[in-house]
Amino acid sequence: MLDHKLQEKINNLTVVEAKSEIWKVEPSTTAKNCKNFIRDIVDNLDLKPNPEKPVIALSLGDPTVYGNLKPSDETIKAVISIIEEGCCNGYAPSVGYENARAAVAEYLSYDGVDVNPRDVILCSGCSSSLEHCITVLADDTKNNNILIPRPGFPIYRTLAESIGVSVRYYNLLPENNWEVDLQHLESQIDQNTAAIVINNPSNPCGSVFSEEHLQDILEIAYRRRKPVIADEIYEQLVFPGEKFVSTASLNSHVPILICGGLAKRFLVPGWRLGWIVIHDEVGAFEYIRKALLCLSQRTIGSNTLIQGALPGILRNTPQSFHDELIRTLSGNAQLAFEGLQTAKGLIPFMPQGTMYMIVEIQMRKFPMFQSGLEFAQKMMEEESVFCLPGECFGISGFMRIVLTIPEDLLQEACLRIAEFCNRYYTN
Ligand SMILES: *Cc1c(COP(=O)(O)O)cnc(C)c1O
Repeated sequence: MLDHKLQEKINNLTVVEAKSEIWKVEPSTTAKNCKNFIRDIVDNLDLKPNPEKPVIALSLGDPTVYGNLKPSDETIKAVISIIEEGCCNGYAPSVGYENARAAVAEYLSYDGVDVNPRDVILCSGCSSSLEHCITVLADDTKNNNILIPRPGFPIYRTLAESIGVSVRYYNLLPENNWEVDLQHLESQIDQNTAAIVINNPSNPCGSVFSEEHLQDILEIAYRRRKPVIADEIYEQLVFPGEKFVSTASLNSHVPILICGGLAKRFLVPGWRLGWIVIHDEVGAFEYIRKALLCLSQRTIGSNTLIQGALPGILRNTPQSFHDELIRTLSGNAQLAFEGLQTAKGLIPFMPQGTMYMIVEIQMRKFPMFQSGLEFAQKMMEEESVFCLPGECFGISGFMRIVLTIPEDLLQEACLRIAEFCNRYYTN
């Protein structure tokens, strides 16, 4: 006969076991299919810096990390005064305040483009704009796919695959300044293709499409009747002598959802303010427009303080602030380009805009490394410099460096990269 105390113990044990073994709550398919491909790759690298050398991270696509690039005074003042006014603490319409949408429309109306405030939806960062655009156009129950660039920003794939939409890649051509391989693009389209994503200027390539090239892409979209999602988060972030052309300015007759936001050009990625512009010359998006409004009610819009500040941010930030940022980025691009040309086995591509430079690693000159991943890992181990391997963007044999870090650090990083390459280069 068991004694009373022991019996109680056994009962408790069973409860504890039941708790840990039987009750496991299963996440949804959407959550299980959601993957951050950069984290996935970076977390699997064995990243041990050289303790003798301070780490220089050329990997983070966040311009604020080193503190050398700050938002304009006008941007800061706009937010402070909105907080003090106390006008923007309640719920806004889920597509955004009228005056904030009007400010975005005004900001994007140039080059013959006339954006109507009704066509603007505010979102929680450009990533959330992209999520709404992919979700509104593509459907897992229809076996839909979307076309995305390779190399390209991995979030398009994350967003699509988590809702059961597959991705098909179209190639960008390094030998053509990372223009789209138009034939390949067209060959990837099928009857299930719900949208074509274009990213101009490009992360990670730093390339800026010419008007003619954009026309060629949109001509394919028009002929095949495929809507376009244009990720224009780097609008206007182009270097002297280059011109940014928005898909909205081209009268292509293609229905386009244009995504953008404050993150990069205004140097406040953490503020999570993005937008969608519905560009619809032919009325093809009548139902999509309504559906986007419904989707915006799922997240109830974006942060109201930043919305309230948006007119002040967009109107009052002086051109000199934008010019200064371009000067810094293009100066750093020049510096990195020259610095990396002294590295054997590397081919840097001079960017025309954005905050990045893509660099080819001639892998057959480094036979001791199986992949760009190993190359990046070893460079961290010996030189404490970390760059994102091309694998993060869907290609191998390349790496991406960021141009937003302070000039002296960038210079030092390039020296170390060159030493590393010259040490391992094998003819
Ligand atoms: C940074 C980035 C975004 C995301 O912008 P958020 O406003 O921070 O969400 C979108 N697309 C590309 C290509 C980017 O590099």
